[in-house]
Amino acid sequence: MIDHTHDAARRSWVASARGHPDFPLQNLPLGIFSHHGDTPRGGVAIGDHILDLPAALELGLLKGEAGLAAEAAAGRSLNPLFALGAGPRAALRTRLFELLADDAPPAVQALGPRILRETAACTPHIPAEIGDYTDFFAGIHHALNGGRLFRPDNPLLANYKYVPVAYHGRASSIRPSGTPVRRPEGQRKLAEEAAPSFGPCRNLDYELELGIWIGPGNPLGTPIPIAEAHAHIAGFCLLNDWSARDIQSWEYQPLGPFLAKSFQTSISPWVITPEAMAPFRLPQPPRPAGDPAPLPHLLAEYDQSHGALNLALEVHLLTPVMRARGMAPQRLSRAGADKLYWTVAQMMAHHTSGGCNLNPGDLFGSGTISAPEETGWGSLMELSRGGRQPVQLDSGETRRFLADGDEVIFRARAAREGFVPIGFGECRGVVAAQPERPR
Ligand code: MN
Repeated sequence: MIDHTHDAARRSWVASARGHPDFPLQNLPLGIFSHHGDTPRGGVAIGDHILDLPAALELGLLKGEAGLAAEAAAGRSLNPLFALGAGPRAALRTRLFELLADDAPPAVQALGPRILRETAACTPHIPAEIGDYTDFFAGIHHALNGGRLFRPDNPLLANYKYVPVAYHGRASSIRPSGTPVRRPEGQRKLAEEAAPSFGPCRNLDYELELGIWIGPGNPLGTPIPIAEAHAHIAGFCLLNDWSARDIQSWEYQPLGPFLAKSFQTSISPWVITPEAMAPFRLPQPPRPAGDPAPLPHLLAEYDQSHGALNLALEVHLLTPVMRARGMAPQRLSRAGADKLYWTVAQMMAHHTSGGCNLNPGDLFGSGTISAPEETGWGSLMELSRGGRQPVQLDSGETRRFLADGDEVIFRARAAREGFVPIGFGECRGVVAAQPERPR
């Protein structure tokens, strides 16, 4: 899987790509963008620019299998590309690398102004038409932290180490980074209140998650065997599973989250391909002594040796006070995706094991990614101990949960000695107040 497109010595003739924290030549993530408000179409992030796939196709730069993939990615969504699977996607990467590397023919480099758009002049869109969205709960340290708030003696439920627990989320309310999130209204009942009331959420939270895009998928009734699951991963993104904790704690029994999660989910717009992530794969960490082995349908040798990602995810917070003072966003946590108890392939094998079909463009959330230590806790519920212990900010402010005007920013970076680090770009969203409306 590692080839010349991961060579750390290679550089792009696109100047802003050299040393770019997210989008150097070795990344080449795919997405859907519009330029000055024109028709959304497929593109590839390179430094501070986007390579316009329809423009490159029109100039005859993408032929053969790479051309087929580019055509599938050139429209308003990447679903047709995701359906093609790894072969054409990898061919497109190889050809894009050739076109954008600094030894590309001068005639190609001269086409720069015709195929590159400045990212600052572009609008990112959701990269696929998402048919279904499933949110997992694979972050065991988050599950433990949450469970301890309610069941100090027995934080993990009996199924956790056997089943990659999940719920079916809501695809219609997924929005790209930069879309404000409206504080939801709903039924809230805190433990000390006798009866619920209806009104704006008082305990608004974020959840730091890895998003997973689904590739070809499976027909109804035909599960994806774990040994084949990696072929169905189309890529990765950042995902903020905004959560209304007061609404959640009242509504979730016995069927799980509903309105506490469905008001909005934010994702980063760039699809980081499995090919770009190839150098950053890790063995799944061994389970602690005494934990059960995964059941056979969730266990495969390749997945155990390559199923984890060497990816550091971060949460940053920018409050209105910090913004007014010109302060930088403050980092609230940093955790590795290798802290997940279940691999993406295990999530996929479990999801389909009963016969459920996955379609190209479906989206998974990993579950909140928290590290064992407090500096890596991926939600405010964890950092503030369920709201009981306010988080102290460098601005002198405190937060139990999110305030109106707060902006939450996720970033992620994959690194390994001998390779060029790549990033995911940002997933950000500012909290907007519920508008006053007559009752
Ligand atoms: Mn979640």
